[in-house]
Amino acid sequence: MLSSSPPPSGLLEKLFQHIDLHQDEFVQTLKEWVAIESDSIQPVPRLRREIFRIMALAADRLQHLGARVESVDLDSQQLPDGQSLPVPPILLAELGDEPEKPTVCFYGHLDVQPAQQEDGWLTDPYTLTEVDGKLYGRGATDNKGPVLAWMNAVGTFRALQQELPVNIKFILEGMEEAGSVALEELVRKEKDSFFSNVDYIVISDNLWISRRTPALIFGTRGNSYFMVEVKCRDQDFHSGTFGGILNEPMADLVALLGSLVDSSGHILIPGIYDQMAPLTEEEKKMYETIDLDLEEYQNSSQVEKFLFDTKEELLTHLWRYPSLSIHGIQGAFDDPGTKTVIPGRVIGKFSIRLVPHMNLSLVEKQVKQHLEAVFSRRNSSNKMAVSMVIGLHPWIANISDTQYLAAKRAIRTVFGVEPDMIQDGSTIPIARTFQDITQKSVMMLPLGAVDDGEHSQNEKINRWNYIEGSKLFAAFFLELSKLH
Ligand code: MN
Ligand code: MN
Repeated sequence: MLSSSPPPSGLLEKLFQHIDLHQDEFVQTLKEWVAIESDSIQPVPRLRREIFRIMALAADRLQHLGARVESVDLDSQQLPDGQSLPVPPILLAELGDEPEKPTVCFYGHLDVQPAQQEDGWLTDPYTLTEVDGKLYGRGATDNKGPVLAWMNAVGTFRALQQELPVNIKFILEGMEEAGSVALEELVRKEKDSFFSNVDYIVISDNLWISRRTPALIFGTRGNSYFMVEVKCRDQDFHSGTFGGILNEPMADLVALLGSLVDSSGHILIPGIYDQMAPLTEEEKKMYETIDLDLEEYQNSSQVEKFLFDTKEELLTHLWRYPSLSIHGIQGAFDDPGTKTVIPGRVIGKFSIRLVPHMNLSLVEKQVKQHLEAVFSRRNSSNKMAVSMVIGLHPWIANISDTQYLAAKRAIRTVFGVEPDMIQDGSTIPIARTFQDITQKSVMMLPLGAVDDGEHSQNEKINRWNYIEGSKLFAAFFLELSKLH
């Protein structure tokens, strides 16, 4: 079987040439976008205005691409401190509506995490700065670069006066980092209108797992977050006055938390693994081919030794198995000193990352039953209360969907390699939201490299990723139109 792909056709070659020739302009536009401090995290009117500004700039650019743009105004946001802040509009755009062509909708966000040079940035975070082919700036990879790459791809067809092989839609928001205020409601509202003729939804808001090998993401873990409270009374006690005659809440809580997971990372809650989809031989093979440098991964994480020694075991436990993490204890005395207090009421916090086909309410039931059993064995006179405060489903896509095949072919054409087929151990509710509400095929097609540092100091996107990524999207449109 031939593993190499055929050389790009005449049209592809022209598209790629055009993108190469205009790459400095593409970088310049990214620079203009990065210069806008569209921070959605800090609730400051000035920053909110910046998000409005970038949404308007994006709407303008979409119009220049020939798209019909609707800027959906949203209600203001009431903050807990009584302040009210305007919420930037969500943009819905469409370009072409020919029924014989597939329609692909791109989701992206234009807001960013906060950044200040004093945080340890080597350059001004809002001045895109190129060093050795790396374009440093807040939002460069998360998510302004990928959004622009998609627009670059669309614009290249237009510049060459070539008909777009697919109908294109955009849904762009400015509040993703702050929890995508109002997005889900809008998707629900537009289910039978904007989304009705959409065949595929593409999200490009993650990273590859390596520096050089592109990836396709087809699954993310869910999350169920628990609080377990053990209470004797609201006030604390003096350990000299009460120590020795009480069931101490902290001792109960430590025993409860200690009953959740063993030292090999195995979750001890009865029944929890029963719901997990069995790991198939095909999946195991997929893990073997993934481009992950275990040693570099270990070194960059500054972890002396992981629980697992092989790449396959490590990745399956990150993506394919549930995990339980203990996050903290509220109400506990945590000063560096030696105060002799017995906390009267403490709350332990832990969460379970969920995988297909784990069911949220069953997980909740199993956790509660387990903790109640452990607690009752202690015969404590304290009160225990367990609640699940966050419940987010895992997401899994069908990798034999047409758009996954098209993306694989486009990656072969542009990069000359097979993509890493990966999942993400974190919880990214957006994919599942789109899939559940619209019932359409959702794909994550990231452009950024593993070391891009999203949310961190010195975030960057490589010029290579940005430019080749623009080509990738152009090639993807063509492949999709052939396969659809
Ligand atoms: Mn993002
Ligand atoms: Mn982000």
